[in-house]
Amino acid sequence: MADVVFTNVRILDGTGQNNPYTGSVLVRDNRIRQVGRSTAPIAPGSAAVIDGAGATLMPGMCEAHTHFSWNDAATLAAIQTMPLEEHVLWCAKVAKRYLQAGFTSCVGAACAKPRLDVVIRNAINAGQIPGPRYLAASQEITVLGALGDETLPHLPFPEFSFGVNVSGADEMRKAVRLFLKYGVDSIKLNLSGDNFTPQSPAETTWMLDEEVAAAMREVKIRGKRGVAHARSSESVKQALRHGIELIYHASFVDEEALDMLEAKKDEVFVAPGIAILYAMLYEAEPWGVTHAMACDMGYQIEWDAACVSLAKMHKRGIRVLPGGDYGFAFTPHCQNARDLEFFVKYLGFTPMEAIRCTTLYGGQVMKRPDDLGLVKEGYLADLMLVDGDPLANLSILRDPKRILAVMKDGVFAKAPEIAARRQWERAA
Ligand SMILES: [Zn+2]
Repeated sequence: MADVVFTNVRILDGTGQNNPYTGSVLVRDNRIRQVGRSTAPIAPGSAAVIDGAGATLMPGMCEAHTHFSWNDAATLAAIQTMPLEEHVLWCAKVAKRYLQAGFTSCVGAACAKPRLDVVIRNAINAGQIPGPRYLAASQEITVLGALGDETLPHLPFPEFSFGVNVSGADEMRKAVRLFLKYGVDSIKLNLSGDNFTPQSPAETTWMLDEEVAAAMREVKIRGKRGVAHARSSESVKQALRHGIELIYHASFVDEEALDMLEAKKDEVFVAPGIAILYAMLYEAEPWGVTHAMACDMGYQIEWDAACVSLAKMHKRGIRVLPGGDYGFAFTPHCQNARDLEFFVKYLGFTPMEAIRCTTLYGGQVMKRPDDLGLVKEGYLADLMLVDGDPLANLSILRDPKRILAVMKDGVFAKAPEIAARRQWERAA
């Protein structure tokens, strides 16, 4: 594989500490080998030289709460009832779209059928299909009546459900062991309810401590990760008590929950997925949810609470990451970078801090804190070339026309249209 040199680019290194500077970056094999402040290209031998013409070169982004198998439908039932064969193809297509949108890493946050995430991750890793680096999740594990229980016990096929229902520690153990046998990277537990399912609203907490403990024992034995859907304050505390590393939503947190989060801020990540709260309030009317209906469902209360909670977390140095619950009709896939705009507009982040959440913290949540998520010598060559300055306008990060190129592991997933000059050895 020929070396690639990006020259005449504004380097945004992803640390959140350094202002962008003009320079050049040399990629050899799958690593960043050299980062220079000179505009003169580092151009050894036969490198392919990409003249960025002043575009921004930054790390590929990380989506911390991804559901490839959500199929841009308006209901959980419509996701659940997609036939398996079509569903596999859907996930493969979506994985490719994420990569081309600049997401070179995604953290699976639950899939709609048992092995969808594992199969897609394995196919990506084997080079069978294009897609981001991916951590595969289980289905949502829930309890009867809570979020994810879509069973209809009074009808034929009563067991068919979006999430997996368990009752008691034994059933939990069995479900978790089965997903671990399939090879998931994380086990997803629905600890709280959700306003999307009015029978189990966001501030309710459903799972028993003994069920969570049984799950986390199995998870830890295999060195895997526990992740939780936790909107209520009680569920956030429950997650922390049991060693869950990645907490989704955390809309409602009291002072005790904030203190517990802060005490574990080097171990724990929060990925709130706030876009769906906003979308339900203001953008879901075409799918039959008016603003008034969304307010009745509790979304205004949750949105207000989440903005306060997440701003407090950010102030306390708790890592809040973008992404989450894209893949519904009102939050379609590949608009995920919109979260960065929300972080700035509603949560008190600077644009630089928002970007750091998807770069530096992205490498950390992908369990590669030492070589992923930065433009830095020795790091994996996961890069994106952006037309414009994301610090001045974050919305360009969700505009396909402005994403000029995406590289993952040293290979272009989206090749730059900027003509690449191949420089042959001058001695010839
Ligand atoms: Zn989710």
